[in-house]
Amino acid sequence: MGHIHRVVAIDGPAASGKSSVARELARRLGFAYVNSGAIYRAITWDALQKGIDGRDTERIAQTAEAARISCRLQNNESHIVIDDVDPSEHLRDDRVNKNVSRVSSIPRVRKIVVQNMRQYARYNDLVVEGRDIGSVVFPKTPYKFYVDASPEVRLRRRAAEGQRDEIIMRDRADSSRPISPLIVAKDAQIIDTSHLTIEGVVNEIIARLRQIGLSI
Ligand code: C5P
Repeated sequence: MGHIHRVVAIDGPAASGKSSVARELARRLGFAYVNSGAIYRAITWDALQKGIDGRDTERIAQTAEAARISCRLQNNESHIVIDDVDPSEHLRDDRVNKNVSRVSSIPRVRKIVVQNMRQYARYNDLVVEGRDIGSVVFPKTPYKFYVDASPEVRLRRRAAEGQRDEIIMRDRADSSRPISPLIVAKDAQIIDTSHLTIEGVVNEIIARLRQIGLSI
């Protein structure tokens, strides 16, 4: 089933600038902003805080399937509530950073998250950021971008946020998993953000969106 609304897909590795760019792009376009990584992070946090081992694939899948996950748009941003708890302040915890790539490689977990994102697109124009948005979740959208930056720049960005996040390890896991790995979709436009400001990247994306016919 096709989606009726317009979707701009923003994929890329950790700390490539995706979130800042996607959020600002959504604001400028007047589209809703969906952060798919936050949904994988919420599912990871929920399993860990229920005492489940991050390697216990079967129990994580069961817990995710049984959880009442509600993804709502609030102020045009996706917001997740899992079993009546708002996990926002825990999504970047060390233990979530350490386990999220493993959790997100579980096919049953991916199925839940993908269904969720497609649901949003039934009612809203979206900017969606993640790893597999242009390749798997919304493969038919003509508006696909892959944002990247050099490893040095990405490490510096995370350090500046004061975060302990093994981004190289996560990227390796995300790129080498068998289902929905991080890849450059064949029709995606690549943008290197290493030497650009957020505004610079957003301007570049908007210019390219106009060129490929998005009326905004
Ligand atoms: O974007 P962020 O770094 O917050 O994503 C956290 C993790 O969630 C990624 O390292 C990846 O394992 C997973 N993820 C994914 N598919 C997406 C978005 C995120 O597997 N579309």
